[in-house]
Amino acid sequence: MTPQNKLLKKECLPTFVETLVKGGKLLYAPTKENERIEFKLIENFSEIYLDYIQTTKSIKSIVFPPIEKLFEYVADKEHVEIKDVNLNTIPETIVFGAHPCDAASFKVLNAVFTWDCNDEFFLTRKDKTTVIGLSCKNHDDYCFCTSVDLNPGSTEGSDILLTRIENDNYLAEIMTEKGEAVYKLVKNLFEPAPQVDKNAFVTQLPKLFDLNDLRGKLSFEGLSWMQQSLRCLSCGTCAYVCPTCSCFDIQDIGNQTKGKRVRIWDTCALPQFTLHTSGHNPRHFQNERWRQRIMHKFSYEPERLHVYGCVGCGRCSRACPVNINILENLIEISGGNK
Ligand code: SF4
Ligand code: SF4
Repeated sequence: MTPQNKLLKKECLPTFVETLVKGGKLLYAPTKENERIEFKLIENFSEIYLDYIQTTKSIKSIVFPPIEKLFEYVADKEHVEIKDVNLNTIPETIVFGAHPCDAASFKVLNAVFTWDCNDEFFLTRKDKTTVIGLSCKNHDDYCFCTSVDLNPGSTEGSDILLTRIENDNYLAEIMTEKGEAVYKLVKNLFEPAPQVDKNAFVTQLPKLFDLNDLRGKLSFEGLSWMQQSLRCLSCGTCAYVCPTCSCFDIQDIGNQTKGKRVRIWDTCALPQFTLHTSGHNPRHFQNERWRQRIMHKFSYEPERLHVYGCVGCGRCSRACPVNINILENLIEISGGNK
């Protein structure tokens, strides 16, 4: 569809949100509790906190839950009965106030989950999720979306993108049919859009390295992977907060007569990730695992899936307990933005 622009006055925003909630969809939005900002299921507009730079965790769990049941089984000596999950029970969901990096992450996840087969669990959740994005007013030293082909006002992945403009009103860019369906529910709240330069209302974040330089310099052997990962604890936090990390493990929970099969988030940062039954581990040392993380996101995924596995949100660096900063490492590898 052809995108269209509208104006949403600031006094209409609470009605906009609460109409969507009352319409029966689950609505996740950023909330602030003490100093921690996270997306949570909300019921009232007053719970929402929009003046944030970044949440600790991403919106990934809405389309790719940390633990997801794939089926249940019941067995006796002669029969095994498999009970499938009814995907029709997955609720219609709205993510409100996600920044452009988070919105763009669904494209990366989609590339993974449709690579060699269509993952119906992910695809059903994604199809039932509408993203109402929010352009960034501010950034911090960890943000680098402009270095990975995005920007603080990017519409990529948003069904509607809101940008706060003059007088704290919002420019609404309605980008997709899902966005249009939401717009039609609350059409009376919108007015014709003014002529504005959206870029004047989003934060200015310089590009800090060049992706082509980075890809050209990535090398399995030569780089200082050891030095970059020396203090890494292999805790996996970086992957769990990352909107684009998509590795998972499959486990059975139960016994011989009944139980369920689940998939759960996993990460290449953990030594057990590649541990063979024989005891051999091809990525025994952390520098090999750190190399895998960087090469996967910036070499293997673009080569195989035609997407970069990083949206520059900076979460991994903010959350790392020993202050390993992916941006510093990417600048070091690429030589910076010369
Ligand atoms: S690797 Fe780090 S900066 Fe890149 S998307 Fe993941 S959490 Fe964000
Ligand atoms: S969060 Fe930091 S310490 Fe933990 S695995 Fe990632 S890089 Fe290593």
